[in-house]
Amino acid sequence: MQYTIAITRQEEKKTREQNAAPFGTHPTEHMFICEYKKGTWHNPRIIPFGNLSMSPFALCLHYGQTVFEGMKAFLMEDGKVNIFRPLKHYERFARSLERLCMPLVPQGLFIEALHQLVQVDADWIPTDPDASLYIRPFMIASEERIGVKVAEEYLFMIVCSPAYPYYSKPLKVKVETEFVRAADGGTGYAKCGGNYGGALYPSQLAKSEGYDQVIWTDAKAHEFIEESGTMNLMFFVDNVLFTPPLSGTILDGVTRDSLLKLAKEMGISTAEMAISYKEIQQALEAGKRVEAFGAGTAAVIAPIETIAIEGKHYNCYIGQDATMYRLAKELYDIRKGIKPDTHNWNYIL
Ligand SMILES: *Cc1c(COP(=O)(O)O)cnc(C)c1O
Repeated sequence: MQYTIAITRQEEKKTREQNAAPFGTHPTEHMFICEYKKGTWHNPRIIPFGNLSMSPFALCLHYGQTVFEGMKAFLMEDGKVNIFRPLKHYERFARSLERLCMPLVPQGLFIEALHQLVQVDADWIPTDPDASLYIRPFMIASEERIGVKVAEEYLFMIVCSPAYPYYSKPLKVKVETEFVRAADGGTGYAKCGGNYGGALYPSQLAKSEGYDQVIWTDAKAHEFIEESGTMNLMFFVDNVLFTPPLSGTILDGVTRDSLLKLAKEMGISTAEMAISYKEIQQALEAGKRVEAFGAGTAAVIAPIETIAIEGKHYNCYIGQDATMYRLAKELYDIRKGIKPDTHNWNYIL
């Protein structure tokens, strides 16, 4: 099915911030919006970026029926623009929506809206080779009703923000054995606002103790490693790239999936298996070289320099020849069109 998206352009062209603004502070000129009412999607359109007006009774403001995605568009070496793995993001969006009892956005509408919006705001992709355009599709329950229920009205929107390269200082993290991010049967695999709200308190506690973020462990034994902050977590030890397997409590990261596939092609062994923090501790105690890093769209990889386990601090390897940097470079080269995109990950406008 073909979708027609009406486009209303900003009358006066805004000038783009040329300086590296902090992540997520500056919107592009336009946004996509579409309303769900009486069982269908209405009036898909691109309009100048602006505030929303809604009733204080809107269900999303009270009961957390909100879902989002986070993806990126890149300027390739040949000047074309590509959106990275939009179908993989769409599939995850669909799974999150189902878990929150929210209506599916048809795939054709999702892709067309992304395509048109990124095209309209393509000038906003910074030209710095390491920069990109961050894209945030999201859905909220807009029905006016103060009582708990599955909403019957929603807004599906897409907004964008230029993402400048930033030097991410290697992280200092602590293994969290008291608070949990997600439990079996919960919403951990869905990208929903509530997961983030609930994670703030333990993260703030860790910050007050001098850590950048926590490594979440499982909700039962408080021993098996899950994710790091809002990223998937990977280790490279004994020439194997380890990461916990997908489950109801782990988000199916597109970066995680991409790095695992690339590692295999680069001849690096990979293992998706349960990892006890005790095993990591043993490897570190034995003086092994352990690489640890977060994997996610915003930072691609976030190297971890220090892990605190039961109050003891251990150093991970962050030398320039680390395997995590080779993996990140491989992904970079594919996105920029420097290496062939054999997986058809780049959706080129
Ligand atoms: C979004 C997210 C990730 C990373 O997923 P990507 O698709 O790689 O950006 C990991 N963990 C959580 C909890 C997330 O919300």
